[in-house]
Amino acid sequence: KAERSLNFIEQIVEEDIASGKNGGRVHTRFPPEPNGYLHIGHAKSICLNFGLADKYGGQTNLRFDDTNPVTEDTEYVESIKADVRWLGFDWENEFYASDYFDQLYAFAESLIQKGLAYVDDSTAEEIAAQKGTPTEPGTPSPYRSRSIDENLDLFRRMRAGEFPDGAKVLRAKIDLASPNMHFRDPIMYRIKHAHHHRTGDKWCIYPMYDFAHGQSDSIENITHSLCTLEFEVHRPLYQWYIEKLGIFPSHQYEFARLNLTYTVMSKRKLLKLVNEGHVSGWDDPRMPTISGLRRRGYTPSSVREFADRIGVARRENLIDVGLLEFCIREELNKSTSRVMAVVDDQPIKVVITNYPEGQTEIMKVENNPEDPSSGERDVPFGREIWIERDDFMENPPKKYFRLAPGQMVRLKGAYIIKCEEVVKNDAGEVVELRCTYIPESRSGSDTSGINVKGTIHWVSVAHAVEADVRLYDRLFIVENPAADERDFQELLNPNSLVTVKGLVEPSLKDAVAGERVQFMRKGYFCVDADSTADKLVFNRTVTLKDSWAK
Ligand code: ATP
Ligand code: MG
Ligand code: MG
Repeated sequence: KAERSLNFIEQIVEEDIASGKNGGRVHTRFPPEPNGYLHIGHAKSICLNFGLADKYGGQTNLRFDDTNPVTEDTEYVESIKADVRWLGFDWENEFYASDYFDQLYAFAESLIQKGLAYVDDSTAEEIAAQKGTPTEPGTPSPYRSRSIDENLDLFRRMRAGEFPDGAKVLRAKIDLASPNMHFRDPIMYRIKHAHHHRTGDKWCIYPMYDFAHGQSDSIENITHSLCTLEFEVHRPLYQWYIEKLGIFPSHQYEFARLNLTYTVMSKRKLLKLVNEGHVSGWDDPRMPTISGLRRRGYTPSSVREFADRIGVARRENLIDVGLLEFCIREELNKSTSRVMAVVDDQPIKVVITNYPEGQTEIMKVENNPEDPSSGERDVPFGREIWIERDDFMENPPKKYFRLAPGQMVRLKGAYIIKCEEVVKNDAGEVVELRCTYIPESRSGSDTSGINVKGTIHWVSVAHAVEADVRLYDRLFIVENPAADERDFQELLNPNSLVTVKGLVEPSLKDAVAGERVQFMRKGYFCVDADSTADKLVFNRTVTLKDSWAK
């Protein structure tokens, strides 16, 4: 694999190592909020954080950023851990921001004691008005000049639960004229009488993201705290708290978040898709979640490869989902067996009239021409076979090389057949083709001298195994749904899931959930968790070619 050049974060890390900053130590963290399942954007962040530590002999913490009791849940914590592991990474420590609530509270008191924080009784609207506008300075709250003792007393009473939600907040006393709006006395703590999934009812005040994140980094001695670009304007505040508290100077660096075409990435919107029933759950194979991709048939290595290819930059962009599909297609091309599956709600039965009734012949079919070590497998052939309706045309155009009246085609791994007669029902639909086969044309020992241009796949009627085949496509019909004013309903692709009947070769009879194959000429598929001994269920991971390419 070609060496790629260093990304800007690797450059920073190498400079820091060279200059001996932090003793040459590299310690990153991945800090999900447990308020939803991880998505492919998080995968980018995971690969970046864990990848840096791996590359430079450092460590990565998994830290749950669980400072908002209302939206967080243990179910999410468990799914996040499973997804990070599945991607192939292991964390040095598992931490929770909520474990730092006592320490963060002590930090807040120390800022009050330094005259750098005050309790404000203003309402949310009043505080917003006090902040001013980007072009006009803010105005001080009437509570800004409270004494240190009064602030300490009130803050302790906030913690003790004496006040209802929203009655008071703790604000940092910084600079109401700062051009950076985040410096205009940002809120540090708010009152929320809410049950927390880990700390229970111990707390009724909770720290804001800005007051929790940098300090959590610092407590863990994180050297390189990586986050997405929208936090760039928060960085001065991140540094201000660390500096005023005199604690370990973690440093924040920002990179462009991943945006992907034809999907949405925000957890709030993904939750809406789940709650409104547009998808079957967080792990619906159409979801851009890691659990959805896994169920769709993606491999961890294909997701890591994708993360590597998109790289890390400081400019926002929108990545073509075709690149993600390319990564899995490339990998599955090398790793999967080619099997035959007739995927059609109305397949056509072909009867080979000159083939002995009741006879079964075992054909040897190569598993994967890309991988000589993959060997061959047995595929039974008989007098009656299924083919797809698309592989026959009664009145074909000139360059149609599949089956047509009087025309010959090769059956993959078997014989050349010729269509002699078309049988129709009363409605005029084709229900059966009566064909003859050329006995000398058996694949591998063909002495017939006949050259046919087309090869089609087939499945023996006597041996076919029934399956449901779920054909997944893009969830949205517009490239960038997040930027579209219209409601979800109008943007969703009505054909994002089409379930079709499948008749698959018997080698798949005992296939288990997660198994991946290529259905010849159709695409890459994997066995879904819904599969049972009675009914196989396949998910289409990706088509053989990019059918959306212009
Ligand atoms: P969302 O907006 O989807 O809810 P979030 O940023 O609120 O995402 P967190 O759980 O806080 O979700 O994210 C954990 C980490 O993953 C953060 O460091 C965040 O910057 C990173 N991250 C989230 N979304 C993306 C993305 N699209 N691309 C790259 N990194 C991301
Ligand atoms: Mg977040
Ligand atoms: Mg969020």
